[in-house]
Amino acid sequence: MADILVVGGGVVGLSLAWDLASAGASVTLVDAAEVGRAASWAGAGILPPARAESALHPIESLRGLANRLHAEWAAALRETTGIDTGYRRCGGLYVARTAGEEASLIGLKNLFDEEKIASELLDASGCAELEPHLTPNPPVRRALWTPEECQLRNPRHLRALRVGCQQLGVRVVEHEPIVGWQHQSGRLIAARSPRQTWHADTFCITAGPWSHGLLEELQLPNGIYPVRGQMVLFRSDRPLVQAIINEGTRYLVPREDGRLLAGSTEEEVGFDARPTRSQYEDLIAFARSLVPALADVPVEAVWAGLRPASYDGMPYMGRLPGFANGFVASGHFRSGLSLSPAIARVMCDLMLERPSDVDWSMFRVDREGEAGDIQGPHGRPPSAAASVEDAGRDLEART
Ligand SMILES: Cc1cc2nc3c(=O)[nH]c(=O)nc-3n(C[C@H](O)[C@H](O)[C@H](O)COP(=O)(O)OP(=O)(O)OC[C@H]3O[C@@H](n4cnc5c(N)ncnc54)[C@H](O)[C@@H]3O)c2cc1C
Repeated sequence: MADILVVGGGVVGLSLAWDLASAGASVTLVDAAEVGRAASWAGAGILPPARAESALHPIESLRGLANRLHAEWAAALRETTGIDTGYRRCGGLYVARTAGEEASLIGLKNLFDEEKIASELLDASGCAELEPHLTPNPPVRRALWTPEECQLRNPRHLRALRVGCQQLGVRVVEHEPIVGWQHQSGRLIAARSPRQTWHADTFCITAGPWSHGLLEELQLPNGIYPVRGQMVLFRSDRPLVQAIINEGTRYLVPREDGRLLAGSTEEEVGFDARPTRSQYEDLIAFARSLVPALADVPVEAVWAGLRPASYDGMPYMGRLPGFANGFVASGHFRSGLSLSPAIARVMCDLMLERPSDVDWSMFRVDREGEAGDIQGPHGRPPSAAASVEDAGRDLEART
């Protein structure tokens, strides 16, 4: 019997398992499909800047902690597994091409100043000096340069976490969807998959958008639901931009080998993780409108993933109401990758009863709101494994 059963092996579950095992816990991680192949694999790997000490929002203080840990974890994973996760400080450029975007940019600059995050406003020529291939049509009016923005390569990071977990004795079990629970007198006894019963002392649900159904099985209404994001991968023989280029909710992420990611969309389409022509063609047009040299660069792949969103924009983290030994960490929407080491660390502190100054009340499953009203496409997934498999299997190690 494991001390701790982690249900779901995306970046959140793998990070938690790694941190728990590093602290000496005996951990089993079960996944409905392959670990590290769902949204965590599909994402762009952007790590926006944040400072824990001067953050104005609890998520930004988590992000500040995460940014410190990302640097430490990348070095530790490289040393122990030999895998370079692609963690790099490449900087971020936020561009404005319309008057409305320019106004938002000034707002963002003010926010960064208040949170003591380094940034510099650039005019069109300053922007062109920094990124000569960025000659968009329509042109950039202003840009904001953030030198502390980082990136990592998701497939590599996930592979390193998996190897790291196995090195520390974590039992990783794949193709075992948890479908129900056994519980008694306010304690979880076991999780059930179709083939087996998984006993443990402590349980944590980290199943991305599928956490919704697993919580519902415990009569815990919640507002977690899937939001599809699509991605396009260009393959150039050399990097055309150096920094992550952000415009509104869309972005370009350059990799050192010349590949470039263009993302992403936000679509409420239930548990359908298939890319669609209209959306990825829109992303291709967006990318080429920012960097005209991409017109001659072939598209290597397109894919989509399902972000775990929540009805009020806040994640669900902490102890499960009514179950002393049950925990959840899910619903991190567009920030699950960037927050992941901090999520793991604060959850690890809570589960191992170490001191913590996190205010868990805002992340509670039973916080006030309309969680119980979320139904329809946001309801219980018909089949976790089928949806996960659609997310683009053959692209391991490319992005
Ligand atoms: C296109 C796109 C771009 C993104 N870009 C970024 C970015 O740049 N930066 C950032 O921070 N975030 C980004 N995100 C968001 C980020 O990817 C997610 O927030 C994060 O991956 C969520 O991780 P997770 O571990 O909670 O869930 P997932 O990655 O969805 O993992 C959940 C796991 O649980 C398993 N599972 C499901 N049901 C069960 C069950 N019943 N039993 C057992 N296991 C189960 C699944 O098989 C899966 O492996 C992006 C997302 C997308 C789609």
